[in-house]
Amino acid sequence: MADLPASVDVVVSGAGAGGLAAARALGATGLRVLVLDRQRVPGPTAKGEILQPESIRVLDEWRALDALRAGDARPVDRLAIRDHTGAELLAIDYAELPGPYRQVFCADYADLREAIGRSLPGTVEVRHGVRVTGALRDDAGRVAGVRVAGGRGDGGAEVRARLVVAADGMSSALRKDAGIAVDRDEYPHRLLAFDVAEADVDAELSAYRTGRGLCLVYPLPGRRCRLYVQVRPDEFRASGTAELDRWCDALLAQVPAIAPLAGPLRASLHRRQLFAVHRLRAHRLAVPGLALVGESAHAVHPMAAQGVNSSLADAEALAAALDRETGVDAALESYQEARGPRLDHIATVSHNAARMITALSGAPRLLGARMMRRTAANPRLLRRTAGNLSGTDVRPLTFVDRLYQLGLLVDRNAGTTDRARPGVK
Ligand SMILES: Cc1cc2nc3c(=O)[nH]c(=O)nc-3n(C[C@H](O)[C@H](O)[C@H](O)COP(=O)(O)OP(=O)(O)OC[C@H]3O[C@@H](n4cnc5c(N)ncnc54)[C@H](O)[C@@H]3O)c2cc1C
Repeated sequence: MADLPASVDVVVSGAGAGGLAAARALGATGLRVLVLDRQRVPGPTAKGEILQPESIRVLDEWRALDALRAGDARPVDRLAIRDHTGAELLAIDYAELPGPYRQVFCADYADLREAIGRSLPGTVEVRHGVRVTGALRDDAGRVAGVRVAGGRGDGGAEVRARLVVAADGMSSALRKDAGIAVDRDEYPHRLLAFDVAEADVDAELSAYRTGRGLCLVYPLPGRRCRLYVQVRPDEFRASGTAELDRWCDALLAQVPAIAPLAGPLRASLHRRQLFAVHRLRAHRLAVPGLALVGESAHAVHPMAAQGVNSSLADAEALAAALDRETGVDAALESYQEARGPRLDHIATVSHNAARMITALSGAPRLLGARMMRRTAANPRLLRRTAGNLSGTDVRPLTFVDRLYQLGLLVDRNAGTTDRARPGVK
């Protein structure tokens, strides 16, 4: 690893959306940033594809939106929750959001990385094929850089930095090395992701609430669409063509709403990825000398599509804290204070939304159905939900709002606009 710099201002471990966003935001303040990623070439992965309006705002500000559009990112105006036949249960109209960013974009994760990558300032260097193995510490025990694995015949190297950003994903080696504990829960189902080619689907995020749980469909660049299917951990063992066809027949019988996709789906069954689904929250977002960004710090159920929004917001908040405070460690404290409550809110919204659709039985399924009905019939709550999911108009639901959702109180203001006053967040 002879040609890595011995020291920089900031070293970022991980060149996913979180790491690149951190590099973009910190590099723009003039800091010298080195991004290291263990993958030589990032592989294709079915994640980070639904980009909420707040992500679009940030990407636009970073002048990364044109590159995303050039990759044929698909704009979407609404999210509809439907039953297995396709009947609409609840719809969120992004076009009614306040402000200029009122669309979701659906794009490949590789294109998102590419778009942020192209927007990086000259103060940032990205190196692929370099694995970070742990943190360096100074005499006081403060994180002061990283160790990286050596190539063949090379003993490895050290890079010193005033700030280390751990953006190395959910299993973050740096987070473990820093001794930051996490709460981590696995949902009792998995998600099977199909990349369906030659599929003309509506410009909609369609979440089907079915007897087997969630099916999610949305358009992707190049006349493709993504189909996620909720499966039991022991369900999907099919690997031969005949077995896959039988599994597909059963799926189409259970969810007739996706019948128009039958032909393209059958032709695309081999393009699939199976994901275990976790939620994760780190107990701290920083220790002296080191900040967590993105999935190293927080993960929520994918159906809420909040991961990229949260990762970009982490990056912005970290850069703002460094700009505001004197001294890196004071900035890290301030970063933790700013992001902690926001991440708690996102975790709650995402978990509730996921449970509403993925619960298969018992009280969670019944309550989910009731909350969905009450929310669908309440324009004020719908707008709030849209604001919270989009990230552009975040105002957590109150305890009383929850009572309205459960049908325990009648909301006399259901028809009001409930817009935030200017300057009030
Ligand atoms: C199935 C699924 C679907 C999702 N869909 C959406 C969605 O539609 N919208 C949305 O907003 N979010 C979605 N998410 C969440 C979103 O993908 C993540 O929040 C986002 O990718 C987080 O980015 P990250 O940079 O933190 O992590 P990652 O994208 O995981 O990047 C981590 C990087 O760190 C590198 N790395 C790891 N260890 C090391 C090391 N030791 N040294 C150097 N590099 C290392 C890896 O190679 C990787 O490139 C989804 C997640 C899943 C699982």
